[in-house]
Amino acid sequence: MTTPNRPAPSKPLPRPANKALSKPFWDAAKRHELVMQRCNACSGWIFYPREQCPVCFSQDLGWAPVSGRGRVYAFTIVHQPGNPAFAGDSPYVFATIQLDEGVRVVSNVVGIDPHQVKVDMPVVATYDDVSPEWTLVKFQPTAS
Ligand SMILES: [Zn+2]
Repeated sequence: MTTPNRPAPSKPLPRPANKALSKPFWDAAKRHELVMQRCNACSGWIFYPREQCPVCFSQDLGWAPVSGRGRVYAFTIVHQPGNPAFAGDSPYVFATIQLDEGVRVVSNVVGIDPHQVKVDMPVVATYDDVSPEWTLVKFQPTAS
């Protein structure tokens, strides 16, 4: 909760543990495109970015565009954010999205009353330019 005399604290920006490894993801997001890591050995999609395929352990990995379309796999409605910088956004939806390609990502579902979000709801990626350097990938409901 903020007091009228104090501005809300600013929201934290991404701090990737391995900036070089995840750079293609963030660069694509900035272009409002969604890419995922893909294993060249077993063709499996990978999220979050890694040095090695979690399925076949190959280190022959690349990046490829994905549709940005998927479905809500699981979600929760956040009423009391752990970080006070997000208090003004609550309630908001924190969700796991299963992309049509099969890989799952964690994000927010936006553009809808949080209480209307349902498991298996079709969603599509949308891009939130939170700073000149960072764009966050979020998801919004689709008509279909
Ligand atoms: Zn693999």
